[in-house]
Amino acid sequence: MKQCEYCAREIDYSKQYCCDECEKNAKIFFNKEKRSEKIVSAVNCIAFLGIMVSVIIAIAFMPKLGALCCAAFLFIIGIIFAIFPFAPESITKKYKIKKAVLLMRIFALLFVIASVILLLVGLFVL
Ligand SMILES: [Zn+2]
Repeated sequence: MKQCEYCAREIDYSKQYCCDECEKNAKIFFNKEKRSEKIVSAVNCIAFLGIMVSVIIAIAFMPKLGALCCAAFLFIIGIIFAIFPFAPESITKKYKIKKAVLLMRIFALLFVIASVILLLVGLFVL
């Protein structure tokens, strides 16, 4: 059975969305994705690179500074995922927009939780 591209409800083969609401929401989603695509991937690249450098700093020189930097970058990624919840295309295709956005928000929350834990560890344990 074919599914609505937005909410994944089962629909007729001749249709793409189950209702006008879903079509509208999907258009808003794709517009927002297109507009923010470049900036989001740039920020993600910088943040992931930052995490790698932070981990190296933590292991090689200063555990506390490394952990705090790493926490900051994890937090940035979490916020970016929350504001721009654009999953990779394969995920969006498989789960449809609504679920893919939810997945990205869950990842965002996990990144923020990880950053807070790392911050506390960096401040009080290391
Ligand atoms: Zn729908």
